Amino acid sequence: MPTTSPALEQAGAILEIDLGALGANYENLRQRSAPAECAAVVKADAYGLGAARVGPKLAAMGCRTFFVAHLAEGIALRRALGPGPSVYVLNGPLPETDSDFLAHDLTPVLNSPQQLEQWRRAAGDKSLAAALHIDTGMARLGLTANEAGELAAGPRRGTERLAGLDLQFIISHLACADQPGHALNRAQRQSFESHLAALPPARGSLANSSGIFLGPAYHFDLVRPGIALYGGNPTPDRANPMAEVVRLRGRIIQVREIDTPESVGYGATYRAAGPRRIATVPVGYADGYLRALSGQGVANIAGISVPIVGRVSMDLITLDVTAAPREAIHPGALVDLIGGAGPSLDDVAANAGTIGYEILTALGGRYHRRYLDGAEEDQGHD
Ligand SMILES: *Cc1c(COP(=O)(O)O)cnc(C)c1O
Repeated sequence: MPTTSPALEQAGAILEIDLGALGANYENLRQRSAPAECAAVVKADAYGLGAARVGPKLAAMGCRTFFVAHLAEGIALRRALGPGPSVYVLNGPLPETDSDFLAHDLTPVLNSPQQLEQWRRAAGDKSLAAALHIDTGMARLGLTANEAGELAAGPRRGTERLAGLDLQFIISHLACADQPGHALNRAQRQSFESHLAALPPARGSLANSSGIFLGPAYHFDLVRPGIALYGGNPTPDRANPMAEVVRLRGRIIQVREIDTPESVGYGATYRAAGPRRIATVPVGYADGYLRALSGQGVANIAGISVPIVGRVSMDLITLDVTAAPREAIHPGALVDLIGGAGPSLDDVAANAGTIGYEILTALGGRYHRRYLDGAEEDQGHD
């Protein structure tokens, strides 16, 4: 992930990250989830938006619990947050990492009997904070139902095998939370409830962003939103309740008038049959503007929606801007690619045949990044 971004005049596109909107989204989710606590998932560098900026903003909004995927992300986040907030590492302790967790005050999520044993050994005769992950329907990460059952069947409901662990949370993760009607939601919730009842008392956490919108029965003691904080729609069947956080604008660097029939771009996949005006913008798949958007994406200039024509190449896209006012089309003019007057994050994802998560986490390092907070513009230190 980029720690520096090119200066405005050197960049082909401007990526604006609205920390004010991020904060409003946190507050929105916090209110919806109360009395449960609202954590923040900032893995993958806060879904590509920069955990070093996103983390402190959320902490300032009152967030006290953060989740990352990797130990290294946790170490970087602790540096950005300073002491105080809890930082959980979802992947848990890999072999020989105990001292790193302790040195940076990171709390592992324990996903297997092996990780549980490792962390208990690290505790020695002291007590160490941990969360326990039980898989209730993804077959991916966490104790299996059998392993959780064996744990609970041990002496004193598993208390003995959990000795030395200061169990902060028992968590699980929903597979289909973005489909409110899916039968697996209820099944996972019920399975989670029975594990919570069988194991030693600990706070429960099940809901991701979409899980929050399944209602209070899914909130337990802590909710773990990610994508909704960053403006992705957690309720794909309904209007997006979240504020837009990301806006990407590209700069036209060349305008081409096509008079005689001619093809545009690699593979000659688009052929202009008559007179067309083509604008070239220096954003490509190397910037995370996915190649799947070839002939599928749209952009907006001067209030007019214009199609991406031909292939998305590594560094460039070509837009058919014939429908836009001629005076708006010139080198230097800005084109909305994501957000703003352009397609929403979720529209871009749909055009690419993917999800907003992938669009965000793919955002590249060649954009000029600008962090906004309210009216004031914050160029930031990274
Ligand atoms: C990524 C993740 C989340 C956040 O999911 P969103 O759908 O982005 O809200 C929550 N919990 C776990 C375990 C995750 O891996």
